[in-house]
Amino acid sequence: MTTLDISAVQAPQNVWAMAQEQLDDVARLIGLNESIHGFLREPKRILEVSVPVRMDNGVFRMFKGYRVQHNISRGPSKGGIRFHPDVTLEEVKALAMWMTWKCALVNIPFGGGKGGVICDPKSMSEMELENLTRRFTTEISIIIGPEKDIPAPDVYTTPQIMAWIMDTFSMQHGYSIPGVVTGKPIAIGGSLGRDKATARGCLYVVDEALKSLGLPIEGATVAIQGFGNAGLHAAELMSARGYRIVAVSDSRGGVVNSRGLDVNGVMAHKAETGSVVGFTGGDQISNRELLETECTVLVPAALEKVITEENAPRIKAKVIAEAANGPTMPQADRILFDRGIMVLPDILANAGGVTVSYFEWVQDLQENFWEEDEINERLQRKMVRAFREAQEQANRHGIDMRQGAYAVAVSRVAEATKLRGLYP
Ligand code: NAD
Repeated sequence: MTTLDISAVQAPQNVWAMAQEQLDDVARLIGLNESIHGFLREPKRILEVSVPVRMDNGVFRMFKGYRVQHNISRGPSKGGIRFHPDVTLEEVKALAMWMTWKCALVNIPFGGGKGGVICDPKSMSEMELENLTRRFTTEISIIIGPEKDIPAPDVYTTPQIMAWIMDTFSMQHGYSIPGVVTGKPIAIGGSLGRDKATARGCLYVVDEALKSLGLPIEGATVAIQGFGNAGLHAAELMSARGYRIVAVSDSRGGVVNSRGLDVNGVMAHKAETGSVVGFTGGDQISNRELLETECTVLVPAALEKVITEENAPRIKAKVIAEAANGPTMPQADRILFDRGIMVLPDILANAGGVTVSYFEWVQDLQENFWEEDEINERLQRKMVRAFREAQEQANRHGIDMRQGAYAVAVSRVAEATKLRGLYP
């Protein structure tokens, strides 16, 4: 995730309040026990660290970092580490809570965690980034570990950074501990299929959504905003599956062709020029126009808060699959629901990434690595089941898929919390 536009990751200041409100809404819906509701409203543990880093010019600079563990009732906490100038404790708390729900929805034995360091990795050298990563890992090493809390990549953190985390933690213990972090390069215990897992999981739930709506997959049209890890692989996998990709975009703009874009051609153009803009097999469009393109499936795979009260009435897709985190504003959700548009929420549509991270952790602990086909089959089973369970809740309560997914996830965490009881 090295190319994300800075504007793509800015969260609203009240993002933690928003996360708590989402929980409050679903708590009312499922009649959540008041004590458990109060328990789930707060993170279990917050660690704030100061990270001194030797810069290339010889001076030490202090950075601030966080690791938050929201809940560990169902297993060790799991969640990425973000390196970004706009990281705040409030944002890390919200992201950690969302990880709890995402892991519970796809039913993997993890709680939720998240980490972040306030820094601008784009302005740092490779050596400075390595120094920062190794010292941050040391500072949070008192609470992470394969059986406690397992970080992963997030915005502006890469497989190379995961390799430094793994090495630092291993050096401190005197032997290799690959299970401390996921999203690693294959050569040191990474999993096959992890690079495309988010997009593949998204494909599987879109397939299910179309089937449930009685729409054919072959020839269904797709518009994708964002052409990075999630968006590019979604275009590639969906095109191979028989979908017709009619529009794609990146931070510089988009390209549209109602007869279908040549996805390999767009990928080659992006690799050569750094953007999808200028690809000659279609007409140029803006990112705003892309969202309103005539299509069966819209895949926001870039930014937060792009589907708003203002543009929701003009969206023509029948299904929206949130590969990005938080692309739809709450007011837009209501409009889309009233218009009969099915929104596959982020905790479902992009859960393929954490699911294959779980597979990576299992393979590391067993020291037994699976074939890619096996990984994809297991991923498909998890994604399809999560879709059906969320839809069952949505249908039962007459609510949208986001609330349906939350109902499944929060109920699971609540059940584990209740069964374990309160210590001491
Ligand atoms: P990335 O950095 O690989 O790609 C981001 C893409 O968005 C790039 O093509 C960039 O050009 C585009 N973009 C940036 N600003 C834009 C703008 N203003 N308008 C349109 N496009 C713009 O990032 P990614 O890993 O693909 O992540 C994208 C989203 O998916 C994020 O919300 C991320 O949290 C979410 N996500 C990713 C994963 C994963 O495994 N990669 C997992 C879960 C969620």
